[in-house]
Amino acid sequence: MFLEPQLNSYPHKPQSGWIEVVCGSMFSGKTEELIRRVKRAVIAQQKIQIFKPGMDTRYHESDVVSHNKNKLLSKAVNSAKEIMDHCRECDVIAIDEAQFFDAEIVPVCIQLANNGKRVIVCGLDMDFEGKAFGRMPEMMAIAEFVTKLHAICAQCGDVASYSYRLVDSQDKVLLGETNEYEARCRKCFYEEKKQEEKDHEAIIAQLGSRK
Ligand SMILES: [Zn+2]
Repeated sequence: MFLEPQLNSYPHKPQSGWIEVVCGSMFSGKTEELIRRVKRAVIAQQKIQIFKPGMDTRYHESDVVSHNKNKLLSKAVNSAKEIMDHCRECDVIAIDEAQFFDAEIVPVCIQLANNGKRVIVCGLDMDFEGKAFGRMPEMMAIAEFVTKLHAICAQCGDVASYSYRLVDSQDKVLLGETNEYEARCRKCFYEEKKQEEKDHEAIIAQLGSRK
């Protein structure tokens, strides 16, 4: 389990900032982990602001809500740069659904950490095709601490790192609800993808033979 680092042990040294990334597939408990870390910072009497992309309104306009209904107040912003306008007084900045932010999220997080803030970045590391999602790879590279969480495969009960999309849509932004996705292990994820490709090829071949 992640424990906040004990830093700043030299006298008269200003507070050092840092970046933490919490990533993983859907149903891996990322938002629960974000909420756990934020609650601990609240107990430590630190000033916190949670941000999320304005487009993520699947449950509530201004709450960060995990699948198990745990919630904390958050601010929806339409661009990464907007985060800078709302966190001058904060000690801790938490960013949920970070994979949906624009490319500016990287320099914004660097600047916040350089200014002495603790930045917690939470998001999906892979999309439904098993490809790296948004700026998460860069965020993982520049972070001091990376926690990759895992779900349980809905097919075989193994450890799962992939978010498999059950509905047929190419929209990358289709937001996660329990009935649209399931967590899958590598084997169950790629076996099904292979089958989908075969089915797709068969349909194309069938259409071709009708001409
Ligand atoms: Zn599996």
